[in-house]
Amino acid sequence: MAAAQPSAQNPADARCDVVVVGAGFAGLYLLHRLRGLGLSVKVYEQGSDVGGTWYWNRYPGARCDVESMQYSFSFDDQLQQEWDWSERYAPQPEILRYAGHVADRFDLRKDIRFDTRVDSAVFDERHKQWTVRAGGATVTAQHVVLATGCLSNARTPQFRGMADFKGNVYHTGHWPHEPVDFTGLRVGVIGTGSSAIQSIPVIAAQAAQLTVFQRTANFSVPARNAPLTDEERQSWRQDYKELRRRAREDMKNGIVQVVPDRGALDDPEEIRREKYAARWSSGGLTFMGVYNNLVLDGRANDTAADFIREKIAEIVEDPKTAKLLQPNDHPIGSKRICVDTDYYATFNRPNVQLVDIRSHPIEQILPHAVRSGGKDYEVDALVLATGFDAMTGSVAKIEIRGRGGETLNDKWAAGPRTYLGLMSAGFPNLFIVTGPGSPSVLSNMIVSIEQHVDWIADCLGYMRDRGVDSIEATHQAEDKWVAHVNEVAESTLYPQANSWYMGANIPGKPQIFMPYIGGVGAYRQICNEVAAKDYEGFAMTVTARPRAAAGS
Ligand code: FAD
Ligand code: NAP
Repeated sequence: MAAAQPSAQNPADARCDVVVVGAGFAGLYLLHRLRGLGLSVKVYEQGSDVGGTWYWNRYPGARCDVESMQYSFSFDDQLQQEWDWSERYAPQPEILRYAGHVADRFDLRKDIRFDTRVDSAVFDERHKQWTVRAGGATVTAQHVVLATGCLSNARTPQFRGMADFKGNVYHTGHWPHEPVDFTGLRVGVIGTGSSAIQSIPVIAAQAAQLTVFQRTANFSVPARNAPLTDEERQSWRQDYKELRRRAREDMKNGIVQVVPDRGALDDPEEIRREKYAARWSSGGLTFMGVYNNLVLDGRANDTAADFIREKIAEIVEDPKTAKLLQPNDHPIGSKRICVDTDYYATFNRPNVQLVDIRSHPIEQILPHAVRSGGKDYEVDALVLATGFDAMTGSVAKIEIRGRGGETLNDKWAAGPRTYLGLMSAGFPNLFIVTGPGSPSVLSNMIVSIEQHVDWIADCLGYMRDRGVDSIEATHQAEDKWVAHVNEVAESTLYPQANSWYMGANIPGKPQIFMPYIGGVGAYRQICNEVAAKDYEGFAMTVTARPRAAAGS
């Protein structure tokens, strides 16, 4: 479809149909689907290989929290039949190998430019195309798709004295490629979110001394991770078609599970406790699915939160430490619950101590210590498990100019505004995968990624077949969608937490609940209906005649 035009910089870079930013799972599947439409596609990735999240987050203990038989692509049956996941929750190196396998199997690497950051994308209204600056070169494309990831912009808080620290500093989201050996070292971990909760038990087993600096306690449930048997893999594979359908259509979070038809207060306490205990024993994220109202009703939520707080008190021997580890400032589930292996029990080790930096914030980092509450905690290495500027952080780092030269950052200054999480009015032909306003981070993200990629690919096919050269969300549809997303959020307990879902972890970031809580099944239906009504809520402009797919 695209006619190659010579360029002073690099002829191969001059023009394509679609520029994709990012080569995580979203970028990989986009490239595969869009190629299948006969479109010319260039993917730019700032990392040196594919995998996104799983390329960057190499910290000890990193693994998925959605079971691997579900946290995997469904678009190719042979792929899902042939790939052998080793454990219930695969470790990071295996997930990264899987991403590499997908890239090789579908011959994707040849269209991916690695070590190449996209710095800007500017819309040319006259020609209805984007000019993208990447790695010092310029490429023009009719469409740009941001597959930049929701959790890809690691955040390093600026503690006073940080530059003076003499030991190594690691961020979980930017972990070195070579193994890090903490043997014999005094290690400090700052943060107690999912990344910290996964890495703390592993670091504790290696380090001489581990000091955990906790500002906010989080709810965590045991993973009960274990090797997968052939029988377990087979039971998924033989029924994959139906199980994947259920994940996509019937589940709120894209994870197949038994869906309860009752609320927590519908059961007497004894039965309720039995049900919580059963999910605690089976392990994993589905703990939040014991009842259908845990994120809707504060009293119902308290029953689940109390159960976990009691478990913490049972496991952790020192009552003061146990008390500190018991979350008490947000409803359970209003932040993504963590899934761990021996997290709470790790605090019974003699070489592990917990420091409460809510009561005594970190005052300063010294050359060999962290100072809090006037006390110096000596450390030889620091691990920052301090999270991400989530959902909008990586998009905001790109200078994106739409109609009239307006930047997306200006438009989103008071919080992100999208229609369906897929497009933002004023930015034609610019799509976002798992953008704010879509279920994204509240779901099994591979389910959401596949849905968005399929929707975008179908849309581009529709446009090409009808000679449409630009598509743009209307302000009216966007306003309505933003209001709907907010309304649904307000009807739940989610906004009660200072979470990264709300942007609350980034000083100065507008606090708006960013993902869509409606559930992946209902959301998919909405997106499908919009497409079936000739992309209702989107404005399209049509060229003189439809263009044929390349090669047809
Ligand atoms: P990413 O994997 O984040 O990939 C985006 C890519 O875009 C990155 O490689 C980045 O370098 C690149 N990029 C960004 N900006 C630019 C730019 N300007 N120029 C060039 N390249 C750019 N989700 C689940 O559903 N289940 C899980 O178990 C789970 N575990 C997780 C564990 C960790 C440690 C983290 C951090 C997240 C986890 N997630 C999980 C969420 C996870 O991010 C998604 O599941 C999924 O991997 C996202 O894929 P993606 O392709 O959308 O984004
Ligand atoms: P996070 O949940 O945002 O946790 C960051 C931690 O750092 C919090 O404890 C936070 O405390 C603390 N922190 C941040 N800034 C601080 C400061 N200035 N001073 C002191 N403490 C500070 O980040 P994350 O653990 O990397 O996880 C992010 C998301 O990635 C997860 O929610 C999940 O979706 C995904 N993830 C999944 C897995 C998995 O199990 N597969 C693993 C890792 C990540 P406050 O809470 O007080 O802000």
